[in-house]
Amino acid sequence: MMRGALGKPTAAPARVKEGRREGLLRVEYNEGLYLPDLDLWLDADGPRERCVISHAHSDHIAEHRSIVATPETARIFRHRIGETEVETLNYGERRDYGRYALTMFPAGHCLGSAQILVEADGERLVYTGDIKLRPNVAARDAVVVPCDTLVMESTFGDPQYRFPPDVATADRLSAAMERAFSDDRVPVVLAYALGKSQEALELLLRRGYRVSLHGAIWNVTEIYRELGVEFSGEYERYDRERLKGRVLMAPPGCRKQPMLLNIERRYLVMLTGWAMSKSAPYMYRGVDLVLPLSDHADFDDLVRLARESGAQRIITMHGAKKFAALLREMGFNAEHLAQHPGGQKGPKGGATKRAATAIEQKLFD
Ligand SMILES: [Zn+2]
Repeated sequence: MMRGALGKPTAAPARVKEGRREGLLRVEYNEGLYLPDLDLWLDADGPRERCVISHAHSDHIAEHRSIVATPETARIFRHRIGETEVETLNYGERRDYGRYALTMFPAGHCLGSAQILVEADGERLVYTGDIKLRPNVAARDAVVVPCDTLVMESTFGDPQYRFPPDVATADRLSAAMERAFSDDRVPVVLAYALGKSQEALELLLRRGYRVSLHGAIWNVTEIYRELGVEFSGEYERYDRERLKGRVLMAPPGCRKQPMLLNIERRYLVMLTGWAMSKSAPYMYRGVDLVLPLSDHADFDDLVRLARESGAQRIITMHGAKKFAALLREMGFNAEHLAQHPGGQKGPKGGATKRAATAIEQKLFD
């Protein structure tokens, strides 16, 4: 774990002793991000006594006894996990806990999504959670937070993932809807229930489409409204008797369920950054069109984030391991955060299998 040489020497007080740098917080991963010097968990995927949550996607939450989160994330957390002890922090609000202070900043990924600034011993460590740097019509725009250590997601940390402008993707989405309607088919947009759905919904409403929402998406969208998000038009809850002239939006997991299979003339559009992958046609077999609308930063934005943060140490996680190597080639002091030995379950065990499942899940959910 983050021991051993950590790249180029810097002017910072980073002395190497017994194989690791002194003066910077230790960063570990063991089914969640862990800062042992502060006994602080972030986005643990198993139950913890206390955990700081960046956003409420299922791979970032678990049944913790108490959480620290933005009010929006706390609300969605309750919807998804249930009641728990909650301490809320608004964006920009700094709270001192003695050994450290926490501040949340917008991450542009979904409603309530936050980057978490941890200040301790004169060091500023930022954990980005999942982050989208380009403007998101359904989330507060992300900011770049200056720091010493940047722990960043690297989902699309590969040069093949350079997304076209979102407006170009929205144009392609509209054109696809028109094609489907003129062909007397029901356009179905596949997008996961929290974040991507509301972004796509707003894009469709702005272009005057009538949209019908699968119940899971409807529920989260109603929470958005409850929390003050105003959409540019009305939307309906799915009713199979009322599909004509509407765009149906459903979570990707529904594509093999009767609800969609029973629509004889359906036209399936999947929205995902993985659309840029050469393997996309195989990954999304059965889908008519895959468009690169993503709620993550693309490769160029990830590099820009690394640069503009000014961080002397960059730790990548939640994605491509090779991104850290690419950053090192560019002169950054970067390392990929590997699984903590305590979290590895051996060849038969959970960790590897879980990782594979997580990737499969990420493709469609
Ligand atoms: Zn996420």
